[in-house]
Amino acid sequence: MLPYIVDAIQNEEARLNALRDLNLLDTSPSDSFDRLTRLASKLLDAPVSTISLTDRDRQWFKSKVGVDITEIPREQAPCSYAIGNDEIFVVPDLTADPRFVGSPLAQAGIRFYAGAPLFTRQGHGLGTLCVVDERVRELDDEGRQVLRDLAGMVMSQIELSNTIGRTDAATGLPNQHQMFEDVEDLARRHKGAAASGLMVELVSQQQYGQGQRVLGGSFTESLIRGASARLRPAFGNSSKLYHVGPTRLAVLLTPETGLEVPIMVDRIIELLREPLECDGIPVLPTPALGSCEFVLGDLAPRDVLRRMLNAVEDASLSDTARAEYCPAHELRHARSFMLLNDFRTALESGDQLRLDYQPRIELTTGRCLGAEALMRWTHPLLGPIPPVEFIPAVEQTALAKPMTEWVVSAALAQIAAWQAQGLDLRMSANVSALNLDEPDFAARILALVQRSGVRPEMLELEFTESAVARNPTRAARQLEAIRSAGVAIAIDDFGSGYSNLSYLQTLSASVLKVDRAFIGDLESSERDRTLVRSVIDMAHDLGYRVVAEGIETRDAFELLRTWGCEEGQGYLMARPMPAASLEAWLRQEIGAAAA
Ligand code: C2E
Ligand code: MG
Ligand code: MG
Repeated sequence: MLPYIVDAIQNEEARLNALRDLNLLDTSPSDSFDRLTRLASKLLDAPVSTISLTDRDRQWFKSKVGVDITEIPREQAPCSYAIGNDEIFVVPDLTADPRFVGSPLAQAGIRFYAGAPLFTRQGHGLGTLCVVDERVRELDDEGRQVLRDLAGMVMSQIELSNTIGRTDAATGLPNQHQMFEDVEDLARRHKGAAASGLMVELVSQQQYGQGQRVLGGSFTESLIRGASARLRPAFGNSSKLYHVGPTRLAVLLTPETGLEVPIMVDRIIELLREPLECDGIPVLPTPALGSCEFVLGDLAPRDVLRRMLNAVEDASLSDTARAEYCPAHELRHARSFMLLNDFRTALESGDQLRLDYQPRIELTTGRCLGAEALMRWTHPLLGPIPPVEFIPAVEQTALAKPMTEWVVSAALAQIAAWQAQGLDLRMSANVSALNLDEPDFAARILALVQRSGVRPEMLELEFTESAVARNPTRAARQLEAIRSAGVAIAIDDFGSGYSNLSYLQTLSASVLKVDRAFIGDLESSERDRTLVRSVIDMAHDLGYRVVAEGIETRDAFELLRTWGCEEGQGYLMARPMPAASLEAWLRQEIGAAAA
């Protein structure tokens, strides 16, 4: 194709995109535009006036006075000539002009045409404000000025209605507020009809983070702009692309659009296979697509968005990068979100959280040397919440800091209370990975110990291998500070995570807790027996004391004892229990030993 033809086609596509971005085509009449056509008709003494937008193959009237039809074919329409330059375009007699003599307007009896082009700030011609008459006439300079001024007012009105609150300022795309409005509008027009929402997350979280670091804020803008330009033609005029998150686009598929979700999903994935240009850097999208079906009028607009968000979240976790909305998943997300919110209150409540204590037993003597403090939460409405349900979630957030502080303070208070009763029990408390990122972590823990008056040797902190692996150097520094003050360090759940043995050589830890996954099957699994035995031997070589977690059977207890494992925890000996129960349990154990 000749270069200037390619240029012209590209310009026309850009013009059509700009027109669609304004979300005017096929929208309902609006008084703010009708006022201007009424004024044009009156001031220029013309029976017909329209705000006529030039779509790919038609002139569509956003506002009209004096005619009933809403559109005419673009071919041979004077308006499409009028957007060719920024002058007022006047045809005194359509029947005397070879370009328009056979046009639908001329055939309908129209003779005179005058149109002022409507240009965006970027220079895209959207259409015209025009007047027509059945009489042959001219337009004098004053008339031309009136038309020009009114066209300026039409453009201001377009810009105004398009920007206020409904358009993303950076990308110019309709935002979620516009989407809410459109869902309501569709529900009015097609109540009871089936519709779908489709959401595309353009890049993974990791890619998003990298892009932001390298290109700053313009990364998301360029990405969204590039993706919307590429996707827009796939949807036609009646579907808009909404910008609903930093790197997220959404689209509504309705009875009008008639597009099916699976087809659209395939098409979107296909269209995003090539890199998008972001400030000169090609970025290959890794799209995740979530969809939801709903009945127009049955679901509030915000719920439509929420379902799409849930689906896209599921999609980003799935192998296929696609997912349909699933109510059960949403319930789970909603519950964990609620729990996370309520946990903050729980920390301050004074009566929702407590510690249970699981005895740690010396395997050779059967004596209880200490206990592990394990957090328990009784939610005011939901009752007891299993630790695995809330702790991993809390550990992802800034609440990890106050949580650990709460646990360590409560544990220290319990050591002191037991000491006052003559019970000398060491206590281990679990610490979250995120705590090691807090620069003052060691200092704060040591301050708590000092304030409690408890000897530092009575406290032990448990970290998982993965906590240490996040930032080995920083972790080593924090652990060293804690250890040198006398507080013991244990590696928890050993074998369940990275199991990078080199950490064991460098860390200031002194206790290794073997994960209960390896202890549960000791009797039946030859492999686990070999593994646990060699872990115990290796730990001893490195100077560690070994604790086996989750001992449930006498046989496992015996095996571990013969292999030289120093201590154990498990349901065989005792389950985690409240402080008072532990005291009673201890009395009973001591009584039994004495008898
Ligand atoms: P963990 O630190 O490995 O704690 C041991 C878990 O094993 C406890 O579960 C305990 O009840 C359970 N357990 C002990 N003996 C047996 C046994 O013989 N069989 C079986 N099947 N399980 C046994 P729990 O209390 O549900 O806690 C689960 C995890 O939650 C803990 O694993 C720990 O990672 C975390 N966690 C609990 N309390 C706290 C806390 O106060 N702070 C932090 N950061 N994490 C905590
Ligand atoms: Mg633990
Ligand atoms: Mg453990």
